[in-house]
Amino acid sequence: MKIAVFSAKSYDKKFLTHITDNSSSPIELTYHDFSLSLSTVSLANGAEAVCVFVNDVLSAEVLTHLSQSGVRAILLRCAGYNNVDLSTAESLGLFVANVPSYSPEAVAEFALALLQTLNRNTHRAYNRVREGNFNLDGLLGRTLRGKTVGIVGTGKIGVAFAKILQGFGCKVLAYDPYPNEEAFRPYGQYVDLHEQLLPQSDFVSLHCPLTDQTRHIINEVSLSQMKKGAMLINTSRGGLIKTKAVIAALKSHQLGGLALDVYDGEGALFYQDHSGDIIQDDELMRLMTFPNVLVSGHQAFFTEEALTEIADCTLKNLEDFRAGRTCRNSLVHAGRPLARRESVPVRI
Ligand code: NAD
Repeated sequence: MKIAVFSAKSYDKKFLTHITDNSSSPIELTYHDFSLSLSTVSLANGAEAVCVFVNDVLSAEVLTHLSQSGVRAILLRCAGYNNVDLSTAESLGLFVANVPSYSPEAVAEFALALLQTLNRNTHRAYNRVREGNFNLDGLLGRTLRGKTVGIVGTGKIGVAFAKILQGFGCKVLAYDPYPNEEAFRPYGQYVDLHEQLLPQSDFVSLHCPLTDQTRHIINEVSLSQMKKGAMLINTSRGGLIKTKAVIAALKSHQLGGLALDVYDGEGALFYQDHSGDIIQDDELMRLMTFPNVLVSGHQAFFTEEALTEIADCTLKNLEDFRAGRTCRNSLVHAGRPLARRESVPVRI
């Protein structure tokens, strides 16, 4: 069986050898380090499956092309699937499966790392002392104990984040239209997003998926409802935040800091070295001029444990597909997209 692997970096190749080494029958992986899109889809010709990541584009056109060229299965190496047109995949009879959970703790721990870097200004201290400047002016932070942290989305990552915050002695508030009572209750309290979570939180961290309902959940209105000077962390999906609105809120000091591991326009930039290029995204470049903005390149998941789990789960999904078995990670079912509570795929 031939599988075309898109957005494949050196670390993917290293961990995905697990698939070829452990598959029940021979598999040939062809690696492409660029992403899947309309302009690259022809590289999947001859493959029966494609293996893709967060910034690969599986629009209706791309899926139709894949189907016509003989591809039967889409194997996502990630949890989020807002980049896949599931309705079209279903109508084409394609198998689509994701890796729903690969170390939620990896992402939660990274969210905490971003929060504390921003809060305690360690990014600025790091640069400052390297130039022999040991002045503390401008590095003042806030003790986390006793602060209120608002979590938007209490799935696997949101709950893992709440557990960590409990250890810091924070008060945890959460909003989720589908409360995860049993898992979340020991760590915090569910409240209304606009009336309570945003006005009361010193830090807000986003852990909900990108759907039609959540796109730009952080906009001019929600930012104005936040406590003045509160900090915002996004390790979920870039499209949750309206970038123009956060720039304005940072300029007015309504927003006290912003840490992004994901960005709306990341598809054109992330996972590639653009250090020799003139970056054309003016909003991202404006964001990076603020001393209280941190940007990382969608790396919250990036731990050895998570990459091992991704390879393992991708192999299991593949084996289910090949054996015609029911796959617990399938995103389409009996010709229809599964009615997962968060699944209203955003078409791109
Ligand atoms: P999950 O499916 O376990 O949980 C998502 C939660 O969000 C659910 O409880 C759901 O009810 C809730 N939700 C849905 N709509 C909502 C809304 N309008 N407002 C608030 N909550 C809402 O997912 P997870 O494993 O916790 O992952 C969360 C997100 O993290 C993923 O969708 C993905 O986009 C992102 N992610 C990022 C990285 C990274 O490396 N930065 C890695 C993995 C996942």
